[in-house]
Amino acid sequence: MKYLILLFFTSNIIFSQVKTDPKDLEVWEPEPKIVEPYKLRGVPSDAIILFDGTDFSKWKSVNSGQEILWSLNKDKSMTVKPGTGAIQTIEEHGSIQLHIEWKTPVVISGDGQYRGNSGIFFQRRYEVQVLDSYENRTYSNGQAGAIYIEHIPLVNASLPPGKWQKYDIIFNAPKYNEKGVKIKNGSFIVFHNGVLIQNGVSILRPTVELDESIPNSLYLQDHGDLVSFRNIWMRKL
Ligand code: MG
Repeated sequence: MKYLILLFFTSNIIFSQVKTDPKDLEVWEPEPKIVEPYKLRGVPSDAIILFDGTDFSKWKSVNSGQEILWSLNKDKSMTVKPGTGAIQTIEEHGSIQLHIEWKTPVVISGDGQYRGNSGIFFQRRYEVQVLDSYENRTYSNGQAGAIYIEHIPLVNASLPPGKWQKYDIIFNAPKYNEKGVKIKNGSFIVFHNGVLIQNGVSILRPTVELDESIPNSLYLQDHGDLVSFRNIWMRKL
């Protein structure tokens, strides 16, 4: 009996410790702001439209002073003009959500890294590879959706050349202290045609080492292939 009474009191104490009024767990501030997800042809209302097929007004050539010589197409896309150099956004960015659609040429020339190669460089430094990886074997950390040289995509979700493909990418920018010392690695989450291919992978080093003076623009690579892009927008995070 003595033990039963003790058990009764002990369990009561434990119960009273974990008992919480569900109301006490509610948090009302801040209230998430309203975003219309399909505001303009599927683009969220708080997105910055970087390219909608109209013009290159949000972009400039990486070759200073040179105008953009890439092709602007009737189907509201743009195509790399091989040899004219990469293009980059005028606006800089930190952590973002990016949507971008791309297509590699139907006419196949070359293989491996020489078939539909381009790339999306975040802050000009960290490349998510664009490549025709449909029945085109190359090193795994260099195929479409790779964080170039650093992270192999989880799967190959590539469509055949000539088909429009899409990336939806979360880029968490690396963090630096006021002395310029990195205090937190950046990371990537990448969906390729709706399929998760990079699941929060840590960015250990840049694809290209650049001087601090190079702006943190979004950059599209001219790798000598006729790769096309359309419908590019970002949301700053
Ligand atoms: Mg590339």
